[in-house]
Amino acid sequence: MIEVAGDRRRLRFEHVLNFDRDFPQYGTSGGVVRGADPREVWSWPLMWAEALDRMMGDVRDALGPDVSRLRAVSGAAQQHGSVYCTAAMAPRLARLDPGRPLCQQLEAGLSRRRAPVWLDGSTTEQCAAIEAALGGAPAVAKLTGSRACERFTGPQIRRFSERDAAGWGTTDRVHLVSSFMASLLAGAHAPVDCADASGMNLMDLRTLRWASAALDATAPDLERRLPAIAPSSTMAGALSPYWRARYGFPAADVVVWSGDNPSSLVGAGLVTPGRVGISLGTSDTVFAELPQPLPVSTARGASHLFASPTGGYMGLTCFSNGSLAREAVRDQYGLDWAGFSAALANTPAGNRGGLLRPWFVPETTPAADTGVLREGLDPDDAAANVRGVVEAQMMAMANHTEWIARPIARIHAAGGAAANPAILQVMADVFGADVYRAAAVNAAALGAALRAFEADARAHGHACPWPDVVAGLTDPAPGSRIRPVPAHTRVYDDLRRRYAGLEARRV
Ligand code: ADP
Repeated sequence: MIEVAGDRRRLRFEHVLNFDRDFPQYGTSGGVVRGADPREVWSWPLMWAEALDRMMGDVRDALGPDVSRLRAVSGAAQQHGSVYCTAAMAPRLARLDPGRPLCQQLEAGLSRRRAPVWLDGSTTEQCAAIEAALGGAPAVAKLTGSRACERFTGPQIRRFSERDAAGWGTTDRVHLVSSFMASLLAGAHAPVDCADASGMNLMDLRTLRWASAALDATAPDLERRLPAIAPSSTMAGALSPYWRARYGFPAADVVVWSGDNPSSLVGAGLVTPGRVGISLGTSDTVFAELPQPLPVSTARGASHLFASPTGGYMGLTCFSNGSLAREAVRDQYGLDWAGFSAALANTPAGNRGGLLRPWFVPETTPAADTGVLREGLDPDDAAANVRGVVEAQMMAMANHTEWIARPIARIHAAGGAAANPAILQVMADVFGADVYRAAAVNAAALGAALRAFEADARAHGHACPWPDVVAGLTDPAPGSRIRPVPAHTRVYDDLRRRYAGLEARRV
């Protein structure tokens, strides 16, 4: 929560609920449930509703009388997940009883108790059918910003409509997680924001409207079941009487929610073209704001073009062999992270020409099967292999994301491995750009609060430019700047081409 007093803004309140720990009755692990078919992964809309109810109560308790000062509220929800509602949902939302918990009043409003989430990989068949209907993967990517992807909402809707015709028949509204949560706050069906709608394989990325060809390729009679698409600063209404009577909130504006990836762009302060975010998590992700949709093919690998909450576009590319691969090499040579860092410090940039292709699990960019390869690299040389994995990852990211940002002004690194300066030095050297470590722990939530601030300012006639919106609240960790060594960058210019060749080699 951001507090505004005159010209001054500060982070007033941060609070975390954990689904597994705080809502054990839903039996989630990591917030999700896995089916007997390991490709099926879902969560519970009623759990999300219960968590929202608890969070709003916690906010009220923390703010005390200041709760009356709340002006606008928004949120960030995991992208791609979908919630299926019956026609009973709208009247229920409009007449929620403040004396009873929210989650107890929604069950009859759901045509499906489960919400498939982004980890679900069960829709390969549906993706193929959608791509075939629309003229192939490049055509789907050109229209919607991404080739058909298993986790995206369109293929998920298609699978549900095929497998449960009765459930689909009673479905009156399909929400994204974000628009469902905004609906709970506003007490009425909320629109989906164009940034989160980009993760569905259903929106025409150029017009920011539903693409009728994509809808037709997905499920029968889909358009009337979808929310409207709205710009990210749209007000979905005011906090409904439920929240006002139950917790004493004012009729604050509910700003449409967005997805976690678009919200992170704002929360990381990456609202200026040329600033690139790299998240070094379980998988590695490179993302940046783009002024306009570039004429690029996002049909291969895991590259996506989204609308951005800031009004432009956002490019994003994922790499599966992130921390998984770093840990595989670390463990293979019996090192801890200190030993891993020392190995990087004690080996030269360019690794004396040695290369490692670290695909310990199937890679998404470029799409490829598992396949570890070495070229000019002694498998027994621990330090050289440590450098090999990190250099390979950084060169792959640089090679496959040239379309996202050229030139790169600076990189903001986040995620668990961003704690390691030796890894960030290789990043700076390969990209030839300054690297800063992001300070925000939860960029998605911070981005949501900043979006609420921006929408409120805009609605009251003093629209605030995005660089000013994020100023002072998204700065990188002090003293975290790492500069590239020009001589090293020159070494990688050549090595990057050789690495691209190694990527193409068969095992
Ligand atoms: P996710 O959110 O994808 O689960 P995180 O961003 O929390 O992942 O990153 C966790 C990962 O960070 C761990 O799995 C670990 O591999 C990595 N990590 C933690 N500390 C270090 C370090 N000092 N050096 C390199 N990697 C690290």
